[in-house]
Amino acid sequence: MTPAQLRARAALWSLRAALAALEARALDEAQHIAAEEATTRSLLKSPTWGRRRALGGHADPVAGAIDAPELVRVNQWSKTQADVIVELRGVAEHLPGLAGPLDRLQAAVPHMSDRMADGTRLFADRIDGRVRRKLVIHADRLLVPRALCPTCDTTGLTMRLSPPAEERVIECTTCGGAWLRNEALRSVAA
Ligand SMILES: [Zn+2]
Repeated sequence: MTPAQLRARAALWSLRAALAALEARALDEAQHIAAEEATTRSLLKSPTWGRRRALGGHADPVAGAIDAPELVRVNQWSKTQADVIVELRGVAEHLPGLAGPLDRLQAAVPHMSDRMADGTRLFADRIDGRVRRKLVIHADRLLVPRALCPTCDTTGLTMRLSPPAEERVIECTTCGGAWLRNEALRSVAA
């Protein structure tokens, strides 16, 4: 794979990890909302509220106000998740296969032109950044200390931690160079 393809594949792994964290947060929030709704319902069924309603009847505005709005709280994390899935589907809709949009994008990377791979990486990083800022979780980047880029001789090499070990890539943010971590380690050892 070309450096652009390696970087795109790694970026999609970062996005996958961010989306897993988003899904976990959405599920967690759904449980909170369900618990809140159960509490509200049991309050409304309690003898106190029951009596108030019995005294006031259907026309009692206080009883009516208590029933209505508190039962609905929107799960903002699920909403963000749904928005992101729509965006991913929009980009992946012309790619072959029946898998989810992220899987299809990842499978397509080795067949992409460098320009398309760069576009895919920027797209993945844009959504990844948005999700991570919202969740307040750190970026999936580790600075490789003291190492110089073999191509442009500058420091500032980075590696994402989300890809599985055999797909981890060392990237140069200055010149766009990229190397599979395992191959880079082998060439250092040789
Ligand atoms: Zn470089």
